[in-house]
Amino acid sequence: MNNYFPGSDLSEERLQEIIDAHTHLSERRDDALNRFARKNGLRYTLDELLGTMRRYKIVRGLLLSPPLQGGVPLPNEEVIRLCAKSGGMLAPVITVEPSAKEVKAALKLAEKNRSVVKAFKVRLGYVKASAENPVFDRLYDYAESEGLPVLFHTGDTVFSNGDLARSHPLTLDRLANKREELTIVLCHFGNPWFEDVAELIYKHPNVYADISGLTTGGAYAEKYAEWLARKISEAIYFAAGAEKIIFGTDYPVTKHSETLALVKRLEVDEGDKEKILWRNAERVFGL
Ligand SMILES: [Zn+2]
Repeated sequence: MNNYFPGSDLSEERLQEIIDAHTHLSERRDDALNRFARKNGLRYTLDELLGTMRRYKIVRGLLLSPPLQGGVPLPNEEVIRLCAKSGGMLAPVITVEPSAKEVKAALKLAEKNRSVVKAFKVRLGYVKASAENPVFDRLYDYAESEGLPVLFHTGDTVFSNGDLARSHPLTLDRLANKREELTIVLCHFGNPWFEDVAELIYKHPNVYADISGLTTGGAYAEKYAEWLARKISEAIYFAAGAEKIIFGTDYPVTKHSETLALVKRLEVDEGDKEKILWRNAERVFGL
């Protein structure tokens, strides 16, 4: 059962394949995720992130803008700059905000950096637009034509003023119906709407879900971790496989050790854990 973790008996070759499809970094004091880093005892620096990835045999990571104080995301240029400093370990995901100007700028930046950009991200629940807002049409057209997935924040928001009616995973059903060529990734498994996400990944060939940022500690942490593992295992039974589920940490919101422990707890075949830890991400993001 321990196959993917240090000290296990699986070959080094397979151990080296883990991909973290959801991580954040800014190295800025006004990063709104600094409080999670402090809570988790993390320095939240590029050096720490790369060192931790090496320790857990995570060979690639996708880097997403963290929110800054005031609510805006870290500029995408800074995400690209941090990735360039990572020696190939991190690849950028371009965050797209809901205005014609921001969409245009994001697409221009993606085009300019097309050899490294792996996906786009829409911050549902944090921005004043739903996934079907026409402002995103150009983004979806471009993402479809380039074969780049779009990640959507779904479910619970880290701030209490988030808009759950817009971040609910079922808001992606119509978009997935309309855009069969668009690869959609639901971040955080729509927590706590795991069953809705199970249905979406089962129903739509083009919809995936990541398991990032779910373990947050606190009272009943152990019971909560069991509950999470049960929910995700059940989603895998419902969807009749783990082809649509992708590993991510959401560093610094969740520690690497906690998200890896979540995968270890899943009551599924080792082959399915392998799909979750790297095979699916490699295929979906073309890594
Ligand atoms: Zn995140």
